[in-house]
Amino acid sequence: MTVETRTTIQPSDITAIDFECAECHHRIVRNLKDWRNDPARCDNCGGSWTGGDAMQRAKELYSLIRYFSEMAAGHQFVISLEISKAKAEEKKA
Ligand SMILES: [Zn+2]
Repeated sequence: MTVETRTTIQPSDITAIDFECAECHHRIVRNLKDWRNDPARCDNCGGSWTGGDAMQRAKELYSLIRYFSEMAAGHQFVISLEISKAKAEEKKA
């Protein structure tokens, strides 16, 4: 017999989205229940985060997470996200 362990999360498990500055690694957290405004720049080094469409995509991700976490009973499927085994082991350590 082979037993396979998989680690999954559901959108409703997600409470916030972290934005980490690629330059200085400062983090800004947006709670899914209180997004307020888009983080336009790093609070630490002042680097702009509005170039390209990444911030728009982040907002779409936020909307999708909220949509799937608020799906009421009666839908024909539930979405779960599987994380890699290495990442799951990393989280346990
Ligand atoms: Zn920064």
